[in-house]
Amino acid sequence: MSRPVPSLRQMLEGLIATPSVSSSQPDRDQSNRPLLELLATWLADAGFAVEILALPGRPDKANLIATLGGGVRGPNGPEGLVLAGHADTVPFDGHLWRHDPLRLTEEGGRLYGLGTSDMKSFFALAIEAARGLAPEALRRPLTILATADEESAMHGARALLEAGRPLGRYALIGEPTGLRPVRLNKGVMGEAIRLVGRSGHASDPSLGLSALEGMHAVLTELLAWREELAAQHRHSAFAIPYPTINPGYIHGGDNANRICGECELHLDLRLLPGLTPEALRAGLERRVAAVAAARGLQWEVTALFPSIPPAETPADSAIVEAAEALTGHPAEAVNFGTEAPFFNALGLETIVLGPGDIAQAHQPDEYLEAARIAPMIELLRGLIRRFCLDAA
Ligand SMILES: [Zn+2]
Repeated sequence: MSRPVPSLRQMLEGLIATPSVSSSQPDRDQSNRPLLELLATWLADAGFAVEILALPGRPDKANLIATLGGGVRGPNGPEGLVLAGHADTVPFDGHLWRHDPLRLTEEGGRLYGLGTSDMKSFFALAIEAARGLAPEALRRPLTILATADEESAMHGARALLEAGRPLGRYALIGEPTGLRPVRLNKGVMGEAIRLVGRSGHASDPSLGLSALEGMHAVLTELLAWREELAAQHRHSAFAIPYPTINPGYIHGGDNANRICGECELHLDLRLLPGLTPEALRAGLERRVAAVAAARGLQWEVTALFPSIPPAETPADSAIVEAAEALTGHPAEAVNFGTEAPFFNALGLETIVLGPGDIAQAHQPDEYLEAARIAPMIELLRGLIRRFCLDAA
């Protein structure tokens, strides 16, 4: 009684026309349920067993897990391949777009629309790659996974890790990498430092306690720490082979004739594999506390968003070697965070590899090169053959 799965083009159109923005600003945040319902219908029609799992306390947000073929456990846990992506997009400013962000438009060999590159299109390609596969032909299961809220706080991947359910042995995340495999990514943290002193008239320093001058001392400490970290931690696979700290926002005081009572500094930190967000936060707090104590200031360090750990899948992992052989490119490293560390923590050996370009992501007039579609589907079919169909 199942219906035929729509054409690739129809699936692409359907995905782009179904908005699923995630945002930390509640007025821009949307449910991803309509998009998951669409995927669930197609996947069920393609023979997959589909589950939609609501995030704890968020009935409007869910992860989708669709599995074709039975579960097999090998000596190292469950076998099989997971093709994964995030079902959400970033918010958009429609007036900056030349094309309708919510309508797939083809022009000059490019498919325009929000989520074409990053990364709703990927689901259509994954379903297309699985088209016609009979469950009984699979020696190991094929799973298609769509997560919630990757763009805001990675709540979907965090919920999967929390649930701790093994999903397979290998995973590919179809994030935009220009068809090149990625096996390493840096972790990302955003931290806010707040110092509180006492304001007073500028004419007499004894009347106040300057938070701004305290922050100057904090910043000096942090820039020295940045040098230390860069000297101690190196990973030559990365284009920027050391951890980075960028002070990107500072605000303090209200007037030149008042001693500054409060000052706030925001930092972006990018972590190499081997560093943990916990260790870096402890190092940050220690330095801020020392400066604040010496000056009698109150201090606070808070996360701007939940940290994303760094990720590393070994170069000799079968999924890395297979992706390198199929693309003809050695696996690379990127300086942005992905869901890979959460998947790695679930026991999945994970590569990031997708048809879009990161330069297109989060930009008005986001597009996917039409010429990337066929090679990506071929690549997915190659991975399905290797990890689900062939004798191990
Ligand atoms: Zn993405």
